[in-house]
Amino acid sequence: MPLSNGSWTTTSMRNGRYRGLSDTKPGIPKKCPCGFEIELRVSQIDPGRRFFICTGPVSVPGPHVNKWWDEAVMEEFDELKGKIEEQNTQLLHIAMDCGRMDKLVDDVAKLKDSGKKMENVTPNELKIVVVFGVVVIIMAMIIAFLK
Ligand SMILES: [Zn+2]
Repeated sequence: MPLSNGSWTTTSMRNGRYRGLSDTKPGIPKKCPCGFEIELRVSQIDPGRRFFICTGPVSVPGPHVNKWWDEAVMEEFDELKGKIEEQNTQLLHIAMDCGRMDKLVDDVAKLKDSGKKMENVTPNELKIVVVFGVVVIIMAMIIAFLK
């Protein structure tokens, strides 16, 4: 790979290979927007510093990936941190929902218990009410018949 003399200072030139516009998506690049794979290389302008760069031919129009590895990793960390915070918030909401669910389950269990109590009591009470009602009706008919 031909390298420049290091006098280039723009983002797209700093790794020593002109690639047109640089891809600005945050994080570790997976594939170049142009469709070509990405390679991790070691800079000769900034010795030892690694960078991601598109493997496609220079003639392919950009934008292309051309970014420092350490910057990409930091962006990836920031993105992951944001996702973790988002998931923590979702977990908190789920925990709150679970609490509400537990209360509902308790309420349903209590209703079932009171329903069973009603089942145990109702048959005898119902018989008494029916018998009493029948007696009242018979008495009312007797009184009406006597008048
Ligand atoms: Zn590319």
